Amino acid sequence: MTVVTRFAPSPTGFLHIGGARTALFNWLFARHHGGRFLLRIEDTDRVRSTPEAVAAIFDGLDWLGLDWDEEPTFQFARAARHAEAAHELVAKGLAYRCYCTPDELTAMREEQKAKGLPPRYNGLWRDRDPSEAPAGVAPVIRLKAPQDGETTITDSVQGAVTVANNQLDDMILLRSDGTPTYMLSVVVDDHDMGVTHVIRGDDHLTNAFRQTQLYWALGWETPVFAHIPLIHGADGAKLSKRHGALGAEAYRDMGFLPEALRNYLVRLGWAHGDDEVFTTEQAVEWFSLESIGRSPSRFDMQKLTALNGSYMRETDDDRLTALLVPRLESTLGLDIPAAGHALLRAGMAGLKERAKTLVELADLAAFYVRPRPLAIDAKAEKALDDEGRTILAALIDKLDDFSPWTRDSLENLARVMSEERGVKLGKVAQPIRAALTGSTVSPPIFEVMEVLGPDETLGRLRDAQNHS
Ligand code: GLU
Repeated sequence: MTVVTRFAPSPTGFLHIGGARTALFNWLFARHHGGRFLLRIEDTDRVRSTPEAVAAIFDGLDWLGLDWDEEPTFQFARAARHAEAAHELVAKGLAYRCYCTPDELTAMREEQKAKGLPPRYNGLWRDRDPSEAPAGVAPVIRLKAPQDGETTITDSVQGAVTVANNQLDDMILLRSDGTPTYMLSVVVDDHDMGVTHVIRGDDHLTNAFRQTQLYWALGWETPVFAHIPLIHGADGAKLSKRHGALGAEAYRDMGFLPEALRNYLVRLGWAHGDDEVFTTEQAVEWFSLESIGRSPSRFDMQKLTALNGSYMRETDDDRLTALLVPRLESTLGLDIPAAGHALLRAGMAGLKERAKTLVELADLAAFYVRPRPLAIDAKAEKALDDEGRTILAALIDKLDDFSPWTRDSLENLARVMSEERGVKLGKVAQPIRAALTGSTVSPPIFEVMEVLGPDETLGRLRDAQNHS
């Protein structure tokens, strides 16, 4: 059997973090089994579905590297096929037309409420002869659901879950305007797409009972269900925006690497021993439904940030530079010339050690490519007092024709200067840092000097000396 999974988002918003995790689990499971991972856009809510949301879902999946097989299925376009399945069930006597008016349904609900029962359809038209149909009432089509016995789902995560059939009423398959209900569309689509494993949030677990009954009626084999516990916030409460229930693009904007987010998301609800950091190849190799936990996982932004930091340190300098340049260009509002790319690339080893996200990296790296004269922040300004400027003047003299221009020999020079002046090395380093970076926080300053090279270093030192 070829494994076929699907991700079936409703395009009413961004690809939020819970959806991204569902997509990832489906993708991992399909890739693990050498199967197919399909995408279905559940766009039957015509008011809330938007093309922008569809685009955001495609983009988010793309960014996370979750490639899907085949063209995506759009659910709304298949409404006629869904209706056909309902009509087939009517023809077989497994579904029926119900002509209840809204008033009758309200009365039914009231009656049940009065008896202390949950409001349910009472099967009024289940066995009634269609010739009794009132004129001018467009009927709905309802499933003739089993009334006795139980429906059990053997869920790969939740185990066996059972409902007594008398708890479920005859659900509507086709509305009176002929449009299919969500329950019908999902089952027909999953069947027609050949889906073998339905992996989704456990908020859909109760739907699985009715869907199972529908599979039975249609004579189709039920897929394997795996309902994954939802994601909660770090404080254990339901995930909200405050906790990080944001779209994938928000994580991209916050400067996370897709592979780090992917690694973090795999661990949300699935575990491979105590392994925290692993490659996508390893996740594909190890992934199984059996190792998905039954309790809600907690989304912790700090852990994600720390994990991202460790991914950044391992990331190749060329790739980080390529990711950094467009970010810097947009935050600084300038075009960075090739020489600037080279500076960033050369300084990357020192930069990436000190940044946990691309946003932090961009903040830290900006000084390399800011145009001269550099703005000096208030803290750094303090290092450029009279003493600081005297030190810079002495340094400028010594740097004329200085060689070799390496971090070690530059540090040595500063050390000698500090000894001559009877001050600590920091006293010499501070004004240099202020002059070269405009800040009190930067990669090691002699590394910065090496990266900037003699001309740029001397230019910036002179700027700072003249700074008023
Ligand atoms: N469209 C549903 C959702 O976005 C998913 C339905 C399913 O996976 O069966 O929650």
